Amino acid sequence: MADAPRNLVDPYSLADSDGYFWVKGNLHCHTTNSDGRVEPQARLDQYVAQGYDFLCLSDHRKITRVDTVDVPDGFVLIQGAELHPANPFGGQVHHFICLNIDQDMACGTMPPQHVIDNVREQGGQVWLAHPHWSSVNIIRDTLPLKGFSGIEVFNSTCRFMGRGEGAVHWDDWMSLEDRVYPCLANDDTHGAPEDNRDTYESWTMARVKERTTEAVLEALATGASYGSTGPEIHSIEINSNGKSAEVTVKCSAARRIHAVQDTYGTEYREGGELFTEATFSLRNNARWVRFEIIGPEGDKAWSNPVDLRS
Ligand SMILES: [Zn+2]
Ligand SMILES: [Zn+2]
Repeated sequence: MADAPRNLVDPYSLADSDGYFWVKGNLHCHTTNSDGRVEPQARLDQYVAQGYDFLCLSDHRKITRVDTVDVPDGFVLIQGAELHPANPFGGQVHHFICLNIDQDMACGTMPPQHVIDNVREQGGQVWLAHPHWSSVNIIRDTLPLKGFSGIEVFNSTCRFMGRGEGAVHWDDWMSLEDRVYPCLANDDTHGAPEDNRDTYESWTMARVKERTTEAVLEALATGASYGSTGPEIHSIEINSNGKSAEVTVKCSAARRIHAVQDTYGTEYREGGELFTEATFSLRNNARWVRFEIIGPEGDKAWSNPVDLRS
């Protein structure tokens, strides 16, 4: 197998035998410190009890401090906030998920690039949240800005309201910038679990060697991750003979697998029965390919894109 050049990490090549394992998390939720229905400690406890490994209490405009809650040993609580700089480009106010920050800022009066720069100077990451729900126009609102880590491709509470998926924005952004970005899938939890609205509906899987904020953040930023509302992705392998190439994806039981490349149309496989593996030819002029796994109940997983260029 010839490894195609990639500028994201291939999480499936990070072997168990080298100490890697998957952790499950939600990087976007709200508490009573902003417009969430649940207190910070209870929000954390609920995700812990549900088997999650990491979480960010990303309240609007203000950091919910991790030292104000009791965090179980081994659980990774990432400190962050959802920041909302004004949009000088004509679109709606920005929604940025900002991870690993320690200093609050008056984001509402700061230009968006200053907010991004401030977060990065703090050692943090900025993710473009729910672009469909926010009516983001990538050319107008996002392209003028630099320094994002990636995009929230799925958002549970926005799905509840009918605009949960940002895959078209993702593809558009990568095409316009001629680069690949990794994705997150997040609940953006506002309700309580009994509301059956936006709790435990989507998550991000990260491939790490240790249960630390640093390890999870590195996995997210380098793309050693994938997003899901159910299915698991087990491997993505490219086989090339120099002239042509094909890629095989393996996953949990799927009803359909889509190979999305940055050319016209898309490829898909379906068999009438559930299956766990599919092989696709790569188009000669494709710059990247990413996969969407459709599970038995219509649930979905999004791989990160694989950059196909040398
Ligand atoms: Zn938001
Ligand atoms: Zn939010």
